[in-house]
Amino acid sequence: MNIHEYQAKGLLKKYGVAVPRGGVAYTPQEAETVARELGGPVWVVKSQIHAGGRGAGRFKSNPEGKGGVRVVKSIEEVGKNAGEMLGHVLVTKQTGPEGKEVKRLYVEEGADIKRELYLSLLVDRGTGRITVVASTEGGMEIEEVAHNTPEKIVKVSIDPVTGIQGYHTRKIAFALGLEGKQVGAASKFLTAMYKAFVDLDCAIVEVNPLIVTGSGDILALDAKMSFDDNALFRHKDVEELRDEAEEDPAEIEAAKHSLNYVKLDGNIGCMVNGAGLAMATMDIIKLYGGEPANFLDVGGGATKERVTAAFKLILSDPNVEGILVNIFGGIMRCDVIAEGVVAAAREVQLHVPLVVRLEGTNVDLGKKILAESGLPILSADNLADAADKVVKAVKEAA
Ligand code: GDP
Ligand code: MN
Repeated sequence: MNIHEYQAKGLLKKYGVAVPRGGVAYTPQEAETVARELGGPVWVVKSQIHAGGRGAGRFKSNPEGKGGVRVVKSIEEVGKNAGEMLGHVLVTKQTGPEGKEVKRLYVEEGADIKRELYLSLLVDRGTGRITVVASTEGGMEIEEVAHNTPEKIVKVSIDPVTGIQGYHTRKIAFALGLEGKQVGAASKFLTAMYKAFVDLDCAIVEVNPLIVTGSGDILALDAKMSFDDNALFRHKDVEELRDEAEEDPAEIEAAKHSLNYVKLDGNIGCMVNGAGLAMATMDIIKLYGGEPANFLDVGGGATKERVTAAFKLILSDPNVEGILVNIFGGIMRCDVIAEGVVAAAREVQLHVPLVVRLEGTNVDLGKKILAESGLPILSADNLADAADKVVKAVKEAA
Protein backbone atom coordinates (compact mmCIF):
# COMPACT_ATOMS: atom_id res chain seq x y z
CA MET A 1 0.00 0.00 0.00
CA ASN A 2 1.21 3.49 -0.88
CA ILE A 3 0.43 6.78 0.85
CA HIS A 4 0.74 10.45 -0.06
CA GLU A 5 3.87 12.52 0.43
CA TYR A 6 2.36 14.63 3.22
CA GLN A 7 1.25 11.49 5.08
CA ALA A 8 4.73 9.96 4.74
CA LYS A 9 6.31 13.14 6.03
CA GLY A 10 3.90 13.14 8.97
CA LEU A 11 4.87 9.57 9.91
CA LEU A 12 8.60 10.15 9.42
CA LYS A 13 8.49 13.32 11.50
CA LYS A 14 7.12 11.32 14.44
CA TYR A 15 10.28 9.21 14.29
CA GLY A 16 12.55 12.24 14.29
CA VAL A 17 13.24 12.55 10.56
CA ALA A 18 13.74 16.22 9.65
CA VAL A 19 11.04 17.51 7.28
CA PRO A 20 9.93 21.03 6.31
CA ARG A 21 6.79 22.43 7.97
CA GLY A 22 3.61 22.18 5.93
CA GLY A 23 -0.09 21.42 5.82
CA VAL A 24 -2.57 19.61 3.58
CA ALA A 25 -5.26 21.53 1.64
CA TYR A 26 -8.33 20.44 -0.33
CA THR A 27 -9.34 23.88 -1.62
CA PRO A 28 -7.47 27.05 -2.71
CA GLN A 29 -8.83 28.82 0.40
CA GLU A 30 -7.41 26.10 2.65
CA ALA A 31 -4.09 26.36 0.80
CA GLU A 32 -3.98 30.10 1.53
CA THR A 33 -4.83 29.51 5.19
CA VAL A 34 -2.04 26.95 5.53
CA ALA A 35 0.40 29.34 3.82
CA ARG A 36 -0.59 32.20 6.14
CA GLU A 37 -0.06 30.01 9.20
CA LEU A 38 3.35 28.86 7.97
CA GLY A 39 4.51 32.40 7.23
CA GLY A 40 6.63 33.42 4.23
CA PRO A 41 8.40 34.59 2.26
CA VAL A 42 8.45 31.45 0.06
CA TRP A 43 6.02 28.53 -0.19
CA VAL A 44 5.90 25.37 -2.25
CA VAL A 45 2.53 24.09 -3.49
CA LYS A 46 2.72 20.36 -4.17
CA SER A 47 0.20 18.10 -5.93
CA GLN A 48 -0.54 14.99 -3.88
CA ILE A 49 -0.93 11.95 -6.13
CA HIS A 50 0.50 8.45 -5.80
CA ALA A 51 3.13 8.98 -8.47
CA GLY A 52 6.52 10.60 -8.73
CA GLY A 53 7.87 13.00 -11.32
CA ARG A 54 5.32 15.65 -10.32
CA GLY A 55 7.76 18.53 -10.64
CA ALA A 56 8.46 17.72 -14.28
CA GLY A 57 4.86 16.63 -14.97
CA ARG A 58 2.30 18.75 -16.83
CA PHE A 59 -1.44 19.33 -16.40
CA LYS A 60 -3.72 18.12 -19.18
CA SER A 61 -5.69 21.36 -18.92
CA ASN A 62 -2.54 23.38 -19.62
CA PRO A 63 0.33 21.38 -21.15
CA GLU A 64 2.35 24.54 -21.74
CA GLY A 65 2.00 25.63 -18.12
CA LYS A 66 3.91 24.80 -14.96
CA GLY A 67 4.26 21.38 -13.30
CA GLY A 68 2.79 19.75 -10.19
CA VAL A 69 5.32 21.26 -7.74
CA ARG A 70 5.44 25.06 -7.70
CA VAL A 71 7.52 27.53 -5.74
CA VAL A 72 5.56 30.76 -5.07
CA LYS A 73 6.23 34.04 -3.28
CA SER A 74 2.88 35.38 -2.09
CA ILE A 75 -0.30 34.15 -0.41
CA GLU A 76 -2.34 35.16 -3.51
CA GLU A 77 -0.06 33.06 -5.71
CA VAL A 78 -0.55 30.09 -3.38
CA GLY A 79 -4.32 30.35 -3.93
CA LYS A 80 -4.03 30.97 -7.66
CA ASN A 81 -1.69 28.01 -8.23
CA ALA A 82 -3.79 25.79 -5.97
CA GLY A 83 -6.78 26.60 -8.21
CA GLU A 84 -4.79 25.62 -11.29
CA MET A 85 -3.89 22.25 -9.76
CA LEU A 86 -6.92 21.04 -7.76
CA GLY A 87 -9.41 19.13 -9.90
CA HIS A 88 -6.95 19.02 -12.80
CA VAL A 89 -5.28 15.94 -14.25
CA LEU A 90 -1.51 15.75 -13.81
CA VAL A 91 0.47 13.60 -16.24
CA THR A 92 3.94 12.48 -15.13
CA LYS A 93 6.40 9.84 -16.27
CA GLN A 94 4.93 7.53 -13.64
CA THR A 95 1.18 8.11 -14.13
CA GLY A 96 1.03 6.96 -17.75
CA PRO A 97 -0.67 9.10 -20.43
CA GLU A 98 -4.05 9.08 -18.66
CA GLY A 99 -2.61 10.97 -15.68
CA LYS A 100 -4.13 11.40 -12.22
CA GLU A 101 -6.54 14.00 -10.91
CA VAL A 102 -5.11 16.15 -8.13
CA LYS A 103 -7.53 16.17 -5.19
CA ARG A 104 -5.23 17.29 -2.40
CA LEU A 105 -2.32 19.67 -2.11
CA TYR A 106 0.50 19.98 0.35
CA VAL A 107 1.65 23.52 1.11
CA GLU A 108 5.14 23.72 2.56
CA GLU A 109 7.53 26.39 3.65
CA GLY A 110 10.11 26.99 0.91
CA ALA A 111 13.55 25.54 1.41
CA ASP A 112 16.88 27.05 0.49
CA ILE A 113 18.39 24.18 -1.51
CA LYS A 114 22.18 23.94 -1.64
CA ARG A 115 22.48 20.28 -2.63
CA GLU A 116 19.97 17.61 -3.71
CA LEU A 117 20.82 14.05 -2.65
CA TYR A 118 19.09 10.67 -2.77
CA LEU A 119 18.43 8.32 0.15
CA SER A 120 16.17 5.27 0.37
CA LEU A 121 15.59 2.08 2.32
CA LEU A 122 14.15 -1.05 0.81
CA VAL A 123 13.97 -4.79 1.38
CA ASP A 124 16.60 -6.40 -0.82
CA ARG A 125 15.35 -9.86 -1.76
CA GLY A 126 18.83 -11.02 -2.73
CA THR A 127 20.32 -10.53 0.73
CA GLY A 128 17.03 -10.74 2.62
CA ARG A 129 18.01 -7.54 4.39
CA ILE A 130 17.03 -3.91 4.57
CA THR A 131 19.37 -2.03 2.29
CA VAL A 132 20.29 1.65 2.29
CA VAL A 133 20.62 3.15 -1.18
CA ALA A 134 22.26 6.56 -1.40
CA SER A 135 23.45 8.82 -4.19
CA THR A 136 24.77 12.32 -4.68
CA GLU A 137 22.45 12.57 -7.71
CA GLY A 138 19.26 13.66 -5.97
CA GLY A 139 16.15 15.01 -7.65
CA MET A 140 16.22 12.56 -10.56
CA GLU A 141 14.83 9.07 -10.81
CA ILE A 142 17.18 6.54 -9.24
CA GLU A 143 16.53 4.13 -12.14
CA GLU A 144 18.02 6.72 -14.46
CA VAL A 145 21.07 7.19 -12.23
CA ALA A 146 21.50 3.41 -12.00
CA HIS A 147 21.39 3.19 -15.79
CA ASN A 148 23.65 6.13 -16.68
CA THR A 149 26.07 6.44 -13.75
CA PRO A 150 25.85 3.29 -11.59
CA GLU A 151 29.12 4.22 -9.85
CA LYS A 152 27.27 7.10 -8.18
CA ILE A 153 25.04 4.73 -6.20
CA VAL A 154 26.15 3.40 -2.82
CA LYS A 155 24.42 0.46 -1.13
CA VAL A 156 24.81 -0.73 2.45
CA SER A 157 22.88 -3.75 3.71
CA ILE A 158 21.94 -3.87 7.37
CA ASP A 159 22.21 -7.00 9.49
CA PRO A 160 18.81 -7.31 11.23
CA VAL A 161 20.50 -8.55 14.41
CA THR A 162 22.53 -5.37 14.95
CA GLY A 163 20.18 -2.96 13.24
CA ILE A 164 21.61 0.26 11.87
CA GLN A 165 24.90 1.33 13.48
CA GLY A 166 27.04 4.44 13.50
CA TYR A 167 29.51 3.00 11.02
CA HIS A 168 26.68 2.38 8.52
CA THR A 169 25.36 5.91 8.76
CA ARG A 170 28.83 7.49 8.64
CA LYS A 171 29.70 5.45 5.56
CA ILE A 172 26.57 6.78 3.84
CA ALA A 173 27.16 10.35 5.03
CA PHE A 174 30.73 10.35 3.66
CA ALA A 175 29.60 8.79 0.38
CA LEU A 176 27.15 11.69 0.06
CA GLY A 177 30.02 14.13 0.51
CA LEU A 178 28.73 15.50 3.79
CA GLU A 179 31.05 17.09 6.29
CA GLY A 180 31.21 18.64 9.75
CA LYS A 181 27.92 18.81 11.63
CA GLN A 182 26.08 17.48 8.56
CA VAL A 183 27.52 14.00 9.21
CA GLY A 184 25.89 13.86 12.64
CA ALA A 185 22.63 15.27 11.28
CA ALA A 186 22.56 12.75 8.42
CA SER A 187 23.30 9.89 10.85
CA LYS A 188 20.41 10.94 13.07
CA PHE A 189 18.20 11.29 9.99
CA LEU A 190 19.03 7.83 8.62
CA THR A 191 18.75 6.14 12.02
CA ALA A 192 15.27 7.64 12.49
CA MET A 193 14.31 6.60 8.96
CA TYR A 194 15.45 3.03 9.63
CA LYS A 195 13.45 2.85 12.87
CA ALA A 196 10.32 4.04 11.04
CA PHE A 197 10.94 1.45 8.30
CA VAL A 198 11.19 -1.47 10.73
CA ASP A 199 8.46 -0.33 13.13
CA LEU A 200 5.92 0.29 10.37
CA ASP A 201 6.74 -2.79 8.23
CA CYS A 202 7.64 -0.74 5.19
CA ALA A 203 8.58 -2.07 1.79
CA ILE A 204 10.15 1.19 0.59
CA VAL A 205 10.98 4.56 2.12
CA GLU A 206 12.44 6.92 -0.44
CA VAL A 207 13.60 10.48 0.17
CA ASN A 208 14.33 12.17 -3.18
CA PRO A 209 15.62 14.75 -2.86
CA LEU A 210 17.23 14.79 0.54
CA ILE A 211 18.59 18.31 0.72
CA VAL A 212 21.37 20.22 2.37
CA THR A 213 20.14 23.77 3.02
CA GLY A 214 22.10 27.00 2.85
CA SER A 215 22.54 26.87 6.62
CA GLY A 216 23.80 23.26 6.43
CA ASP A 217 20.68 21.49 7.66
CA ILE A 218 19.57 18.11 6.29
CA LEU A 219 15.89 17.88 5.26
CA ALA A 220 13.57 15.45 3.46
CA LEU A 221 12.13 17.56 0.65
CA ASP A 222 10.13 14.68 -0.80
CA ALA A 223 9.09 11.37 0.79
CA LYS A 224 7.56 8.20 -0.56
CA MET A 225 6.49 5.31 1.68
CA SER A 226 5.14 1.96 0.65
CA PHE A 227 3.99 -0.69 3.13
CA ASP A 228 3.92 -4.49 3.19
CA ASP A 229 0.21 -5.31 2.74
CA ASN A 230 0.61 -8.53 4.73
CA ALA A 231 1.59 -6.56 7.83
CA LEU A 232 -1.11 -3.88 7.60
CA PHE A 233 -3.31 -5.74 10.06
CA ARG A 234 -0.98 -4.65 12.83
CA HIS A 235 -0.87 -1.00 11.73
CA LYS A 236 -4.46 0.20 11.78
CA ASP A 237 -3.30 3.82 11.89
CA VAL A 238 -1.33 3.31 8.68
CA GLU A 239 -4.19 1.48 7.01
CA GLU A 240 -6.41 4.50 7.68
CA LEU A 241 -4.15 6.55 5.41
CA ARG A 242 -5.26 4.47 2.40
CA ASP A 243 -6.59 6.68 -0.41
CA GLU A 244 -8.82 4.43 -2.51
CA ALA A 245 -9.15 7.11 -5.19
CA GLU A 246 -5.48 6.43 -6.02
CA GLU A 247 -5.86 2.67 -6.41
CA ASP A 248 -7.01 0.42 -9.25
CA PRO A 249 -10.79 -0.06 -8.74
CA ALA A 250 -10.63 -3.71 -9.87
CA GLU A 251 -7.96 -4.48 -7.29
CA ILE A 252 -10.00 -2.79 -4.52
CA GLU A 253 -13.05 -4.87 -5.52
CA ALA A 254 -10.88 -8.02 -5.49
CA ALA A 255 -9.57 -7.25 -2.01
CA LYS A 256 -13.16 -6.97 -0.71
CA HIS A 257 -13.79 -10.58 -1.76
CA SER A 258 -10.36 -11.81 -0.57
CA LEU A 259 -9.34 -12.49 -4.17
CA ASN A 260 -5.74 -11.96 -5.20
CA TYR A 261 -6.09 -10.13 -8.49
CA VAL A 262 -3.48 -8.39 -10.60
CA LYS A 263 -4.50 -6.94 -13.96
CA LEU A 264 -2.23 -7.68 -16.90
CA ASP A 265 -2.20 -6.66 -20.56
CA GLY A 266 -3.40 -9.81 -22.36
CA ASN A 267 -6.84 -11.04 -23.45
CA ILE A 268 -7.28 -14.40 -21.67
CA GLY A 269 -8.83 -14.07 -18.23
CA CYS A 270 -7.69 -16.66 -15.69
CA MET A 271 -9.48 -17.98 -12.62
CA VAL A 272 -7.33 -20.36 -10.61
CA ASN A 273 -7.06 -21.62 -7.05
CA GLY A 274 -3.61 -21.26 -5.55
CA ALA A 275 -0.89 -18.80 -6.50
CA GLY A 276 1.47 -21.49 -7.81
CA LEU A 277 -1.18 -22.99 -10.06
CA ALA A 278 -2.11 -19.48 -11.21
CA MET A 279 1.51 -18.82 -12.21
CA ALA A 280 1.72 -22.17 -14.02
CA THR A 281 -1.56 -21.41 -15.82
CA MET A 282 -0.25 -18.05 -17.02
CA ASP A 283 2.97 -19.72 -18.20
CA ILE A 284 1.18 -22.38 -20.19
CA ILE A 285 -1.18 -19.85 -21.79
CA LYS A 286 1.92 -18.05 -23.06
CA LEU A 287 3.46 -21.34 -24.17
CA TYR A 288 0.41 -21.92 -26.38
CA GLY A 289 0.73 -18.44 -27.88
CA GLY A 290 -1.82 -16.56 -25.75
CA GLU A 291 -1.46 -13.67 -23.32
CA PRO A 292 -3.03 -13.74 -19.83
CA ALA A 293 -5.28 -10.79 -18.98
CA ASN A 294 -4.78 -11.20 -15.26
CA PHE A 295 -3.40 -13.14 -12.36
CA LEU A 296 -6.26 -14.34 -10.17
CA ASP A 297 -6.04 -16.64 -7.21
CA VAL A 298 -9.50 -17.36 -5.78
CA GLY A 299 -7.96 -19.06 -2.76
CA GLY A 300 -8.64 -22.39 -1.13
CA GLY A 301 -12.21 -21.93 0.11
CA ALA A 302 -13.86 -20.45 -2.97
CA THR A 303 -17.64 -20.32 -2.55
CA LYS A 304 -20.23 -19.75 -5.25
CA GLU A 305 -20.29 -16.04 -4.27
CA ARG A 306 -16.55 -15.73 -4.60
CA VAL A 307 -16.50 -17.50 -7.95
CA THR A 308 -19.22 -15.10 -9.16
CA ALA A 309 -17.29 -12.08 -7.89
CA ALA A 310 -14.18 -13.40 -9.62
CA PHE A 311 -16.07 -13.80 -12.91
CA LYS A 312 -17.41 -10.28 -12.73
CA LEU A 313 -13.96 -8.96 -12.02
CA ILE A 314 -12.43 -10.78 -15.00
CA LEU A 315 -15.21 -9.55 -17.29
CA SER A 316 -14.91 -5.95 -16.07
CA ASP A 317 -11.69 -5.87 -18.10
CA PRO A 318 -12.73 -4.91 -21.67
CA ASN A 319 -9.67 -6.69 -23.11
CA VAL A 320 -10.89 -10.14 -22.02
CA GLU A 321 -11.85 -12.31 -25.02
CA GLY A 322 -11.84 -15.70 -23.34
CA ILE A 323 -11.67 -17.23 -19.87
CA LEU A 324 -9.77 -20.19 -18.54
CA VAL A 325 -10.91 -21.66 -15.23
CA ASN A 326 -8.33 -24.00 -13.78
CA ILE A 327 -9.29 -25.45 -10.41
CA PHE A 328 -7.79 -28.25 -8.42
CA GLY A 329 -10.35 -29.67 -6.01
CA GLY A 330 -8.37 -30.73 -3.00
CA ILE A 331 -10.19 -29.53 0.08
CA MET A 332 -12.77 -28.05 -2.26
CA ARG A 333 -14.97 -30.44 -4.23
CA CYS A 334 -15.15 -30.16 -8.02
CA ASP A 335 -18.96 -30.43 -8.05
CA VAL A 336 -19.24 -27.35 -5.83
CA ILE A 337 -16.88 -25.46 -8.12
CA ALA A 338 -18.82 -26.56 -11.20
CA GLU A 339 -22.07 -25.34 -9.64
CA GLY A 340 -20.40 -22.03 -8.85
CA VAL A 341 -19.07 -21.66 -12.39
CA VAL A 342 -22.46 -22.47 -13.95
CA ALA A 343 -24.33 -20.07 -11.65
CA ALA A 344 -21.78 -17.31 -12.22
CA ALA A 345 -21.76 -17.79 -16.01
CA ARG A 346 -25.58 -17.49 -16.02
CA GLU A 347 -25.62 -14.47 -13.73
CA VAL A 348 -23.07 -12.46 -15.68
CA GLN A 349 -24.47 -13.56 -19.06
CA LEU A 350 -21.16 -14.78 -20.28
CA HIS A 351 -20.36 -13.55 -23.79
CA VAL A 352 -16.83 -14.92 -24.31
CA PRO A 353 -15.59 -18.53 -24.67
CA LEU A 354 -15.11 -20.32 -21.36
CA VAL A 355 -12.77 -23.27 -20.91
CA VAL A 356 -12.91 -25.17 -17.62
CA ARG A 357 -10.37 -27.63 -16.38
CA LEU A 358 -11.24 -29.40 -13.16
CA GLU A 359 -9.22 -32.02 -11.35
CA GLY A 360 -9.47 -33.66 -7.95
CA THR A 361 -12.27 -34.68 -5.62
CA ASN A 362 -15.61 -35.46 -7.35
CA VAL A 363 -14.20 -34.46 -10.72
CA ASP A 364 -16.62 -36.71 -12.67
CA LEU A 365 -19.63 -35.18 -10.99
CA GLY A 366 -18.20 -31.72 -11.64
CA LYS A 367 -17.77 -32.42 -15.37
CA LYS A 368 -21.30 -33.81 -15.54
CA ILE A 369 -22.72 -30.59 -14.05
CA LEU A 370 -20.83 -28.51 -16.61
CA ALA A 371 -21.95 -30.73 -19.50
CA GLU A 372 -25.60 -30.71 -18.43
CA SER A 373 -25.77 -26.97 -17.80
CA GLY A 374 -26.53 -26.24 -21.44
CA LEU A 375 -23.96 -23.45 -21.35
CA PRO A 376 -21.30 -23.34 -24.08
CA ILE A 377 -18.56 -24.38 -21.67
CA LEU A 378 -15.56 -26.17 -23.14
CA SER A 379 -14.31 -28.85 -20.79
CA ALA A 380 -10.59 -29.65 -20.73
CA ASP A 381 -8.79 -32.73 -19.43
CA ASN A 382 -5.45 -31.29 -18.42
CA LEU A 383 -3.51 -28.05 -18.25
CA ALA A 384 -2.04 -28.29 -21.77
CA ASP A 385 -5.42 -29.20 -23.26
CA ALA A 386 -7.05 -26.26 -21.42
CA ALA A 387 -4.46 -23.73 -22.64
CA ASP A 388 -4.68 -25.06 -26.19
CA LYS A 389 -8.49 -24.88 -26.19
CA VAL A 390 -8.78 -21.35 -24.80
CA VAL A 391 -6.11 -19.93 -27.14
CA LYS A 392 -7.86 -21.55 -30.13
CA ALA A 393 -11.33 -20.45 -28.99
CA VAL A 394 -10.21 -16.83 -28.66
CA LYS A 395 -8.62 -16.91 -32.14
CA GLU A 396 -11.76 -18.42 -33.66
CA ALA A 397 -14.04 -15.88 -31.97
CA ALA A 398 -11.93 -12.98 -33.25
P1 GDP B 1 8.54 14.83 -7.56
O1 GDP B 1 8.86 15.58 -8.83
O2 GDP B 1 7.21 14.16 -7.62
O3 GDP B 1 9.64 13.88 -7.18
O4 GDP B 1 8.41 15.93 -6.40
P2 GDP B 1 9.51 16.58 -5.42
O5 GDP B 1 8.86 16.77 -4.12
O6 GDP B 1 10.77 15.79 -5.41
O7 GDP B 1 9.76 18.00 -6.05
C1 GDP B 1 10.39 18.16 -7.31
C2 GDP B 1 11.48 19.22 -7.26
O8 GDP B 1 10.91 20.47 -6.87
C3 GDP B 1 12.57 18.96 -6.25
O9 GDP B 1 13.56 18.09 -6.73
C4 GDP B 1 13.11 20.36 -6.02
O10 GDP B 1 14.09 20.67 -7.00
C5 GDP B 1 11.89 21.25 -6.23
N1 GDP B 1 11.43 21.74 -4.92
C6 GDP B 1 10.61 21.10 -4.04
N2 GDP B 1 10.47 21.81 -2.91
C7 GDP B 1 11.21 22.94 -3.07
C8 GDP B 1 11.50 24.09 -2.24
O11 GDP B 1 11.07 24.22 -1.12
N3 GDP B 1 12.31 25.05 -2.78
C9 GDP B 1 12.81 24.96 -4.02
N4 GDP B 1 13.58 25.95 -4.49
N5 GDP B 1 12.59 23.90 -4.82
C10 GDP B 1 11.81 22.90 -4.36
MN1 MN C 1 10.93 13.60 -5.65
